[in-house]
Amino acid sequence: MLKTHNCGELRVENVGQQVTLAGWVHRRRDMGGIIFIDVRDRDGKTQVVVDAGRSQAAFSAAEQIRPEYVVQVRGQVSRRPAGQENPDLPTGEIEVLSDELVVLNPAKTPPFLIDREEAVDEALRLKYRYLDLRRERMQRNMMIRHQAVKFIRDFLDRRGFIEVETPILFKSTPEGARDYLVPSRVHPGKFYALPQSPQQLKQLLMVAGYERYFQIARCFRDEDQRADRQPEFTQLDVEMSFVERDDVLNLVEALIVGMVKTASAVPLAYEQFPRLSYAEAMERFGTDRPDLRFGLELVDISDIAGKSAFHVFAENVAAGKPVKAIRVPGCGTYSRKQLTELEEMAKEAGAKGLAWMAIDPETEEIRGFITKFFSVEQLVAVMERLSAEPGDLLLIASDERRIVHAVLGAMREEMGQRLGYKDRKELAFAWVVDFPLFEEMLEDGHYAPSHHMFTAPKREHISWLDSDPRAVLSEQYDLICNGYEVGGGSIRIHERWLQQKIMNLIGFSMEEAREQFGHLLDAFEYGTPPHGGIAPGIDRLVMLMAGEPNIREVIAFPKSQQAADLMADAPSTVAPRQLEELSIAVKEGLGEKSKQGMTQKLR
Ligand code: ASP
Repeated sequence: MLKTHNCGELRVENVGQQVTLAGWVHRRRDMGGIIFIDVRDRDGKTQVVVDAGRSQAAFSAAEQIRPEYVVQVRGQVSRRPAGQENPDLPTGEIEVLSDELVVLNPAKTPPFLIDREEAVDEALRLKYRYLDLRRERMQRNMMIRHQAVKFIRDFLDRRGFIEVETPILFKSTPEGARDYLVPSRVHPGKFYALPQSPQQLKQLLMVAGYERYFQIARCFRDEDQRADRQPEFTQLDVEMSFVERDDVLNLVEALIVGMVKTASAVPLAYEQFPRLSYAEAMERFGTDRPDLRFGLELVDISDIAGKSAFHVFAENVAAGKPVKAIRVPGCGTYSRKQLTELEEMAKEAGAKGLAWMAIDPETEEIRGFITKFFSVEQLVAVMERLSAEPGDLLLIASDERRIVHAVLGAMREEMGQRLGYKDRKELAFAWVVDFPLFEEMLEDGHYAPSHHMFTAPKREHISWLDSDPRAVLSEQYDLICNGYEVGGGSIRIHERWLQQKIMNLIGFSMEEAREQFGHLLDAFEYGTPPHGGIAPGIDRLVMLMAGEPNIREVIAFPKSQQAADLMADAPSTVAPRQLEELSIAVKEGLGEKSKQGMTQKLR
């Protein structure tokens, strides 16, 4: 080894020892005759003192070095002079007096500072990711990720799960997102697809009798990018046989609690995760992935508002459309301009308008265009229903239920942000259960599954598949945290006839179902155990545990928002010979265009 100790290791107990450190020059301070160097490695930092009086050769070498040079230092551990200790550094009580300093490799001046946290353009960070990864924030995030995944592996191993790898080259099946395709050289004109998830394979492992499977699985979906999406991402893929819903939920809940306690920089808001039905989540929060760090719940005031003289409310309620409101504390003094701004946001979320009532904090007078249509009794009833207080702002929406939920759900998020509730440093996990099996009816008369087509309908609802498919609830469950969906899963269908029936409702003919999913349907006829599973997203979980705003901060080499690797310049054009081998032709000029787009973004 080129070092005897790591840079975060030495303490007062080591004083007097001869040691050798190796690492990067984090900072260098020339005090004239004495040069202080903070030497850094992954483990930490140690102050090295290079005194011309102790070693002229070391001093001459130290005069030449610059930040990020790689150096090796031999010297003696010494207690720092009284008053010069650094309590912020684990090694802050000692320093190493250098007898020898060797430059192992010089470094160019980095394009951004490594030794302090400052805002750097993300494109630049991604181009020089190997330098960005040297920074403390990224090292911390990578460590949280490592600890989380290690915890998961140990936890599941203790509970009898085995990790099985499934193929990256698989078959294109119409499952939801767009596939990444890989052309086959051996079978010209044919393609593999990168897995959107190992869904079918993990179910086949249950058919194969493995009972408890997991995998830290890479998944690929060609979707538009968002803060919490990447073309490739990592899931903890889990599948179990002979289980019911609560077996999966209880296991995963224990896993998440343990993982957060072991690896997270952010604590849990509570240890027992609430279980909300989909219907309850929508009614109370307007979304199926509510941020439970705060209330601002949607409250139904249809019975009161429907009797008011405000004809929009009266007509809506008569037509079965609700009137709902949220109470926002402390915003009762909002100006007309601020309220117009909120109304614009509500319109973006689908509202025709946004009604409001504002209670003056001092006079307790109620402002708002609609108040004059409410009797005093009705106003009192509204205030009571919402537990309103002086200084509150009530935001009110009425429309089809779906729209009211979308609008007030968006308002709740916005106001939660403005009031600082979304900055709370805690993780509020919950389960959402009892989803409808189908999300919507498509134009062609077929149905889109809420989760995926392998999710089982509730047994007692199977007969409704013929009479009223949209009323059927499923065995789907989502794990949510702080407004994100961090995992989804379900108890699966394990009978061929039922799987085929669902495929038909989704729009596959018998032939198409056989062609696309024949392997799975066949397998179901060879003794398939009841089974279920889940797939929490590792990137999103680590993002939340690290307190980061997007998943790129917790992935070592992420793609940019334009799905490009800015460091290696991927995707890239390939040699014509490679395309020929694959019997593929690229339309003239296409490759060049995308390349230009990418270099522009770097500037
Ligand atoms: N494969 C599903 C997904 O990736 C999760 C599951 O049902 O286990 O969303």
